[in-house]
Amino acid sequence: MRWRKYVKQIAPYVPGKSIEAVKKEFNLDAVLRLASNENPLGPSSKAVDAMQQAMAESHLYPDPTAAELREKLATIYGVLPEQIITGNGADNVISFVISAFVNEGDEVLYCTPTFPAYRSTTLLMGGKPVEVPLTKELTFDLDSLKENITDKTKLIFICNPNNPTGTIVESNALEQFIASVPEHVTVILDEAYIEYVRKENYLTGIDFFKKGYPVITIRTFSKFYSLAGLRVGYAVASEEMLAPMLRLREPFAVNRPAIAAAVATLDDTEFTEDHFEMNEAEKLALSEKMEELGFTVYPSSTNFLFIHIKSDAQELFNALLKKGIIIRPCTGWGYDEYVRISIGTKEQNELLLSTLKQLE
Ligand code: PMP
Repeated sequence: MRWRKYVKQIAPYVPGKSIEAVKKEFNLDAVLRLASNENPLGPSSKAVDAMQQAMAESHLYPDPTAAELREKLATIYGVLPEQIITGNGADNVISFVISAFVNEGDEVLYCTPTFPAYRSTTLLMGGKPVEVPLTKELTFDLDSLKENITDKTKLIFICNPNNPTGTIVESNALEQFIASVPEHVTVILDEAYIEYVRKENYLTGIDFFKKGYPVITIRTFSKFYSLAGLRVGYAVASEEMLAPMLRLREPFAVNRPAIAAAVATLDDTEFTEDHFEMNEAEKLALSEKMEELGFTVYPSSTNFLFIHIKSDAQELFNALLKKGIIIRPCTGWGYDEYVRISIGTKEQNELLLSTLKQLE
């Protein structure tokens, strides 16, 4: 009932334009989407083979526990399979985490701009989103989050690295913050892009969990692992924290080909390493070229750039769209002159840059 009552409060979630819709609207043969932080290399060929084999068994329901995938992840991260829950993308995981924790009137605290799903699901559950601005370096403001904790705070989301700014919080400061939150508050780390962070001694949500902190870490196969179209996400937390989520989630949320592809991609380290190297090299090259165009580029720990273009973001979005390139304007929250652009292959980035120059 709560869902019916609160559904009018939330705007429909429109995650950008689809390639098909833009082709049709502007009568284009080819469209390049640099708006959804997808992996431009396509899926791992090993994942494609595994999917094809799994498709031959499509008449059978998938394993509702996705045991093979959870066991593989558990081995990689040094946790128990029982400490992992899978879902139909991180979107679905965020939704059942909030549903499991938030009652009417509970507060959910985070910084903005950030990933919009925290707000919508909180509203849907009758909770109250409490939004505080990022720091001036555009990272999550841990001091301000701390100041805004009340008796009603239930969850704190930390998007690390943050979407859309690409920034990370320093891990010592994060540990101090997690250690200091009162017992009635649960910290959730949304680590959709954490695989792009390779800093020495950097602690992730899973490291904090293994150190005994009661945090929930959410991750996805959509970005680094290049399986956005298959929808695989997961959370890592204690069995006790996962118990209410197990009651809420759909039993067959992750389908058979998706489980097979996720397992195969984890095994294909040659593919993931190639992607990491390409992303690092192209991130540097694209950042430099964007700066040469007079834009300001923020340091990114992800596969996208947050860019101050110093003119109207919606106008640039519209102009590029007509040329068949989709980017993400970050309008709202006072960021009307900022865009988020996913890092493509060398050729894709060159096409973006030459199109930008034509528009000058
Ligand atoms: N969290 C963040 C920070 C994201 O950027 C995204 C996807 N854009 C998600 C969660 C959702 O990922 P998924 O594709 O697994 O639903």
